[in-house]
Amino acid sequence: MADVRIEKLYKAYGTLEVIHGVDVDIPDGEFVVLVGPSGCGKSTLLRMIAGLEGVTAGAIKIGGRVVNNLPPAERNIAMVFQNYALYPHKTVAANMGFALKMQRMPKPEIDARVAKAAEILGLKPYLGRYPRELSGGQRQRVAMGRAIVREPQVFLFDEPLSNLDAKLRVQMRTEIRELHQRLATTTVYVTHDQIEAMTMADRIVVMRDGHISQQGAPLELYDRPANVFVAGFIGSPS
Ligand code: ADP
Ligand code: MG
Repeated sequence: MADVRIEKLYKAYGTLEVIHGVDVDIPDGEFVVLVGPSGCGKSTLLRMIAGLEGVTAGAIKIGGRVVNNLPPAERNIAMVFQNYALYPHKTVAANMGFALKMQRMPKPEIDARVAKAAEILGLKPYLGRYPRELSGGQRQRVAMGRAIVREPQVFLFDEPLSNLDAKLRVQMRTEIRELHQRLATTTVYVTHDQIEAMTMADRIVVMRDGHISQQGAPLELYDRPANVFVAGFIGSPS
């Protein structure tokens, strides 16, 4: 496991600066939800942690090590996206093991990791199926399985539930939290949904226009919002 520290982080796309000096500390094993309106820079921040976007200025540290210049594969992270494209012609087991196969991990170890992840996610009966034979929730679990088998130090989620219907979304929130109870892997979970943030987070980081508006425990933000924006977005309407 590892903590994630973000120090004075800036990001510009060309001349357009979208992240304006952000500081966030994510302690080892914590489930942090990064929440804010569409376009405020959540995905950009997450993609910089993942190494999918370059850093304009500042530092990202994972487990105490500056990772700014490390490629994604060397960061010990695994990311779960909203559009979790599964390989349609590969079975569930092959989808889950694919990244490990690319790393040339020996097959017995791949099989063991896939079996363990399938057990955790309740996917054992589906390992031989193809994505088209699965429900939306099962596909989402396979996408999480692909992340779990890599045994990363940090999980990054970018709005993983926004394509699911309301009922399944509520169920998957619980499943993702249970997964975290079990693995205790440091997690950064991005959403624009306040309820998701309130119900899932150990700690919430509220973003607005490329800045951090406030960070704290859900009840702390709810009871003592630091400003009108947080109050309107999360806090009590007092
Ligand atoms: P969020 O995930 O919170 O909706 P994003 O991180 O996707 O926000 O976007 C933050 C800002 O950066 C937006 O103004 C968006 O238009 C801009 N942006 C995102 N990606 C790019 C890109 N590749 N090139 C230029 N601008 C981008
Ligand atoms: Mg986004």
